Amino acid sequence: MPTIGVLALQGDFEAHLAMLREAGAPGCEVRTAQAMEAVDALIIPGGESTTMLRLLRREHLWNALAQFGARKPIFGTCAGAILMANEVSHPQQESFAMMDIAVVRNGYGRQLDSRIVLLHPEPGHDAILGTNLEAVFIRAPIISRVGPEVEVLVRYNGDPVLVRQGHHLAASFHPELTTDHRIHAWFAASVRKHNSVTNSL
Ligand code: GLN
Repeated sequence: MPTIGVLALQGDFEAHLAMLREAGAPGCEVRTAQAMEAVDALIIPGGESTTMLRLLRREHLWNALAQFGARKPIFGTCAGAILMANEVSHPQQESFAMMDIAVVRNGYGRQLDSRIVLLHPEPGHDAILGTNLEAVFIRAPIISRVGPEVEVLVRYNGDPVLVRQGHHLAASFHPELTTDHRIHAWFAASVRKHNSVTNSL
């Protein structure tokens, strides 16, 4: 059974760990390069992306995270998605460019400052993810552009909010702050699949 680590420098990493337990795929906290090396996939939680970047540098995890993303699956939620994007604005900020998406920080503004909504996956993905997915938005980024390699799994008000590129997944909302663990269960299943493919190469 592959292990999913949760980057535990800042933000709501405990909520992700609780969700993974619920989803039957218990994870572990990752705070060091050694701990990162030991896991098969990583979740970058929501929180404050600028602070997270600063802590990644301070803890000498920058290169480890960049290299991890080149080989293994990462799921970024909210601030985590901002770190994975290849273009960040409002304000502009460094990022790991793991996914070909542009994000506008705090893009939903006041009207969606903090809100719980029910989301319906795009046709074709509803069979896998189900419908009425609970999503919490907290000062969430808008995903304003997706590249040709990026698959949009879920939209809200027309904008992509859950996207996948290769083995990476990014959500502008917080699936970990609900009682609905389907997205975590689905990520864990995709990690198992990724592992069985890479282990057989
Ligand atoms: N607005 C935060 C940022 O720019 C992200 C908010 C969140 O993760 N809930 O980093």
